[in-house]
Amino acid sequence: MAHVVAEPCIGCKHGDCVVVCPVDCFRDGARMLYIHPGECIDCSACVAECPRKAIFREDKLPDEWVPFRDLNATMARQCTRVAHKGSRSMQPIATTLLKPFEDLLRNSLGYFQSRETSGG
Ligand code: SF4
Ligand code: SF4
Repeated sequence: MAHVVAEPCIGCKHGDCVVVCPVDCFRDGARMLYIHPGECIDCSACVAECPRKAIFREDKLPDEWVPFRDLNATMARQCTRVAHKGSRSMQPIATTLLKPFEDLLRNSLGYFQSRETSGG
């Protein structure tokens, strides 16, 4: 069991969640953060810190975001650990720039994953 970062995180990357994680298990994706399921100790400390309500216990994921469980597991193993806890060095991405991408995500999670992997 682990916690999972879901779609509302896209474009935030402020890292309010990262500051409180006792095991530094957040990973820095191109457009959002991911939680490494092998490192998360299920303490739930990050949940209340997320202003977008993007973090869920794995067994409490809303149905529409269930695919994010596998996405977190896959991408966390490919992305680097968030280097500076709560440093605000991660720049939020303009929502307007992400809108077309978010639309694609809703239609195809596989497309999202391939874009994340390529960093494009
Ligand atoms: S605070 Fe929430 S929305 Fe912002 S980066 Fe962390 S998980 Fe994502
Ligand atoms: S539930 Fe706890 S261990 Fe897991 S990501 Fe959140 S703060 Fe870190």
